[in-house]
Amino acid sequence: MARVGILAVQGAFGCHASVVESLGHQAVLVRAKSDFEALDGLVLPGGESTVQRLLLRELALEGALSSLFRAGRPILATCAGLILLARRVSQPEQGSFGFVDVGVVRNAWGRQIESFEATSDEGRPLVFIRAPRLVDVGSRVEVLARFRGEPVLVREGNVTCATFHPELTDDPWVHRQAFGPVEHS
Ligand code: GLN
Repeated sequence: MARVGILAVQGAFGCHASVVESLGHQAVLVRAKSDFEALDGLVLPGGESTVQRLLLRELALEGALSSLFRAGRPILATCAGLILLARRVSQPEQGSFGFVDVGVVRNAWGRQIESFEATSDEGRPLVFIRAPRLVDVGSRVEVLARFRGEPVLVREGNVTCATFHPELTDDPWVHRQAFGPVEHS
């Protein structure tokens, strides 16, 4: 069983834990540096990326997050989490960790009231809530799913990023892509 952390400082972290556990992993809510110890993977949930960035700094979690990334542990970043990890952020511009070679435009699918459910071009369920749009994708970044031809799920190395909220659908396909099912020996 893998220990998968879920950053729980702000935003939509709640439902991620049940999806992670449905795959047989242990979900651990992460709020302090010590919570990063012995994690096999991490979810960065949706929410408000500006606030999450400030909280990561205030709680002195930036170093622990970077170390987990450099150690090659799988990270699933959804919506605001993706904005935190993207290399380029616009509308408005804001600083980010830049772990993934993509450019995102914030709130580009419309406002909260324009949130919507949809189906990916591959037939998978999607939920968009004030979602960012991936406007450029580097050559080492693999596109795992698209919506109307646009990338909505991408992976570079150990980091998988969704512009939508996979934890609000009843299909654990995105978490499985990021962390895999538990391997029984
Ligand atoms: N619009 C939010 C932001 O820019 C992200 C929305 C979400 O995570 N659902 O941080």
